[in-house]
Amino acid sequence: MTTLLLTHPACLEHDTGYGHPERADRLLAIESALEAERFHYLVREQAPLADLAVIERLHPKAYVEMVKAAIPARDHKWLDPDTVVSPGSWMAALRATGAAISAVDQVMTGKADNAFCAVRPPGHHAELSRAMGFCLFNTVAVAALHARAGHGAKRVAVVDFDVHHGNGTQAAFWSDKDLFYGSTHQMPLFPGTGALDETGVGNIFNAPLKPGDDGDDFRAAFEARILPALDQFAPNILLVSAGFDAHLRDPLAQLRLVEADFAWVTEKLMEAAAKHCGGRLVSTLEGGYDLDALASSTAIHVQTLMGAS
Ligand SMILES: [Zn+2]
Repeated sequence: MTTLLLTHPACLEHDTGYGHPERADRLLAIESALEAERFHYLVREQAPLADLAVIERLHPKAYVEMVKAAIPARDHKWLDPDTVVSPGSWMAALRATGAAISAVDQVMTGKADNAFCAVRPPGHHAELSRAMGFCLFNTVAVAALHARAGHGAKRVAVVDFDVHHGNGTQAAFWSDKDLFYGSTHQMPLFPGTGALDETGVGNIFNAPLKPGDDGDDFRAAFEARILPALDQFAPNILLVSAGFDAHLRDPLAQLRLVEADFAWVTEKLMEAAAKHCGGRLVSTLEGGYDLDALASSTAIHVQTLMGAS
């Protein structure tokens, strides 16, 4: 397998301030874990800058310009009670979305089998015209529209195992039957969406989990609700919102997953991609706020993508 790893030092320059859980140390922890010998065969690339026209396939131009105008010359500016920008945030956001766009380009053209984007800020809470939940642009949804408009992928699936529901991705996909969104997440929890009966046009598959649920509950939810629907949808490319905050050590939620559960779900998603779309899979980092759990969970996710588990 050729597995691509895309990241960029600009993603470290999105400064969220003292005590914010979504911090640059998260990427440093991942980077350090991926220095291990077993990651020698990763193809490592610097993320390019996203083309604004590609971001604007999803987000209205007025919103993109609002985000750019909000970037302060110094210190911080809060866009909502959770979401803050600093002088480095604009370039970080363009590298984060640029990573996912480039990953889609390379996987759709067969230059890589699959890819992981180690980037921040995360994306799945960003709505079309609204930054929220640490997110500015909806990276995975931008990548989905790019797979379709740029590469002719007819059906694009996003599977999201972050502990929070990807309200932004769901909203973006809501009325488009050729876009699939499947999510496991803790409920009740921020952002409050993701109930079983939120089904879009039959293309949205939510599998809420209760606080305290563990890997067995997570796997059962995937097998009952997400994987059969994904199989029926038969995507031309599979995108993954890979958040690792469902780990038992994560401070922001109360699920009790361990590294083996992230390996399991990665394998299941790879099997679905192999069956329907030549293995084409692009995964992008969302949450994960305990540095050790984030590093070890990301490592096993990437190791599984490499087929080296
Ligand atoms: Zn999350």
